[in-house]
Amino acid sequence: MSITSNIQDIQKELQPIGVTLVAISKTKPNEDIIEAYNAGQRIFGENMVQELVEKYEQLPKDIEWHLVGHLQTNKVKYIAPFVSLIQSVDSLKLLKEINKYAEKNKRIIDCLLQIDISLEETKFGLDHVELIELLESEDMFGMQNIRIRGLMGIATNTDNQKEIKEDFYELKMLFDGIKVSYFRQQESFDMLSMGMSSDYTIAIEQGSNMVRLGSTVFGQRVTKHFKAK
Ligand SMILES: *Cc1c(COP(=O)(O)O)cnc(C)c1O
Repeated sequence: MSITSNIQDIQKELQPIGVTLVAISKTKPNEDIIEAYNAGQRIFGENMVQELVEKYEQLPKDIEWHLVGHLQTNKVKYIAPFVSLIQSVDSLKLLKEINKYAEKNKRIIDCLLQIDISLEETKFGLDHVELIELLESEDMFGMQNIRIRGLMGIATNTDNQKEIKEDFYELKMLFDGIKVSYFRQQESFDMLSMGMSSDYTIAIEQGSNMVRLGSTVFGQRVTKHFKAK
């Protein structure tokens, strides 16, 4: 299987049902990204700031770059000039920093709030209480340079399909509830990013409209370490 045919097959499956494909290109070389690009893919996601910045600099400027990994506040400034969606916002402090650098760059930066839906302890993300606290915070009203577009979540890493389904069901319910309670007037709150290579079919059944696929597009990742060129 080639990257080209992977992109074509996945897009044939996703486009008719209105699900956005984010091709997760972490650890993959520029040549692989170009192959996906030439097959028509324009949205790519990375989980490390340095890797994201280097790829942004080296690759075509009409690529929409998403950050899907944990973001430290002191690194916001590096991606603020160009990032198209930060999927991993997990604190008010981080949101304020994004707003600050978005303003400096005269931009509005789209963000997803990452929700901790898995049963594992190690995952980043807001729990329900923290999510409500963030949304009700007075600071939210003053932030003119960020736009909350929706929620993102990662299911429990398990072979148990029922558990994965429950994680996604829970996130969809939360998304619907938050939309009604806090974003009723905002049509732009419309993104529910859930589903990776191993579980995206279940995620779509449960209402995802954005999937983040790495190995399904590019093949298995052999190394976790990105080599800067
Ligand atoms: C790596 C990663 C993905 C893609 O993983 P695959 O299993 O290769 O599809 C999706 N989302 C996040 C947050 C990731 O870090």
